[in-house]
Amino acid sequence: SAQSAAGSATEKKRKSTPRESPAKQTSKPKSPTPPSPQPENVEPIPREQPKMPYHTHAVTTDYRISRKVLGVGINGKVVECEHRGTGEKYALKVLRDVPKARREVDLHYMASGHVNIVRVVDVYENSYNNVQCLLVVMENMKGGELFNRIQERGQQAFTEREAAAIMYEICSAVAHLHRMAIAHRDLKPENLLYAECGKLGEARVLLSTFYTLPEGQANSVKYAYQRAYISREQGERGEARVLLSTLYKLSKGLPLSDKLACQRAVTKTDIARLKLTDFGFAKRTDESEPQGLNTACFTPYYCAPEVLGAEKYDKSCDLWSIGVIMYILLCGYPPFFSAHGQPMSPGMKAKIKSGQYTFPAPEWDCVSEAAKDLIMKLLKTDPSERYTIEQTMDHKWITHYQKVPDTPLFTSSILCDQREQWGEMQDEMEKTLASMRVGTDNMQIKNLAESNNRLLAKRKQQRNPGGSSPPTI
Ligand code: ADP
Repeated sequence: SAQSAAGSATEKKRKSTPRESPAKQTSKPKSPTPPSPQPENVEPIPREQPKMPYHTHAVTTDYRISRKVLGVGINGKVVECEHRGTGEKYALKVLRDVPKARREVDLHYMASGHVNIVRVVDVYENSYNNVQCLLVVMENMKGGELFNRIQERGQQAFTEREAAAIMYEICSAVAHLHRMAIAHRDLKPENLLYAECGKLGEARVLLSTFYTLPEGQANSVKYAYQRAYISREQGERGEARVLLSTLYKLSKGLPLSDKLACQRAVTKTDIARLKLTDFGFAKRTDESEPQGLNTACFTPYYCAPEVLGAEKYDKSCDLWSIGVIMYILLCGYPPFFSAHGQPMSPGMKAKIKSGQYTFPAPEWDCVSEAAKDLIMKLLKTDPSERYTIEQTMDHKWITHYQKVPDTPLFTSSILCDQREQWGEMQDEMEKTLASMRVGTDNMQIKNLAESNNRLLAKRKQQRNPGGSSPPTI
């Protein structure tokens, strides 16, 4: 049965504590401890898939389910919930308990030890009106989607260096997955969410503390903060830099108006962390799947998987996505759209399929050659020529992201102007990803059809958010 498949039928009813790792909550997990948070680029690679210890008692024992909808996906709503013990807020995703959903949950859980991957906190298998469901409790990503955040900046220019820092975070998440032999295969803007910007409060406290210090003490405090921040993980270095540069400026005895300007700058700065979610199409790349109709679906987007090998092929989809996201970050529109808001003609689409995208003026004039070079290596139509995640991480634009020029970009203003086209762009990216996945999925034809329906279903969901597929709790 589905329950015994989860290996949790014997689990006693007990309350969970979301701060612990779920593996610690079951008395005797049958599999090794899940990967603990690791800094990027560090082995060992956990190849054994730990079983997700699903709880069998009711989710409502541990969590209060709110009516607040955080987002709508193809599988229904993601709602807010609150842990009864700690009062802390989480996101709850409800899936029908089918093998595909178990794969999604297990792979997401397996990967969720990384700082740039949304953390899975608890999973429950409960049934509602005789429908078996999986309820996934995740950290609540209150910061919203990546591009909404950039769009909201309005006049405050988004720079190439910031784009590089974001790409570093995305690539770190993908490098972690690929090291674990997992391909995400649905890497797109909607699946990149920001954690709460809780650090803003911290920044303010830090600055106000600094204001109250007598001149002489300022330096020692500054160094203490510096040490504290340097010992933290990679992603927070950006935050540390912003804070430190502000503190340095303050220490140089600037007039009050400048100090206030610095303070405003810090409190406005994006210092939240970006994380990848939605493992609905994720796949182990080290497990062979029956081959069947692969060759029937040859399109210019990819070479046949048997040419490249299924593992590299699946991973190469993620690198294509990285290229598209990087392109959009640097100009505000995707490579497969015309520069000025008009969806492309079929002729233009054909050009892009054969790799003929461009870097139009004026948006791309001030973008560094290194950035363009990396994009060209990522958007290769033939996946055997496309950069791997390791090569991408080794490219100077990513490795030395802090040294990328701080040139203001057109991105935020173009994203604002082209708000209307954003939905269409998302559909376009989704279709392309679906066509790429067809390459190695054994149920490829079905998946392609599902993928088209997915768009329709999503549109329906957006029009009628109440009509979600899994039962409401
Ligand atoms: P689906 O697989 O059904 O498409 P997603 O996992 O992509 O669902 O979630 C749908 C939407 O719900 C996302 O686009 C996002 O807006 C919101 N969402 C998902 N996970 C979270 C989370 N952990 N915190 C906050 N919002 C979330």
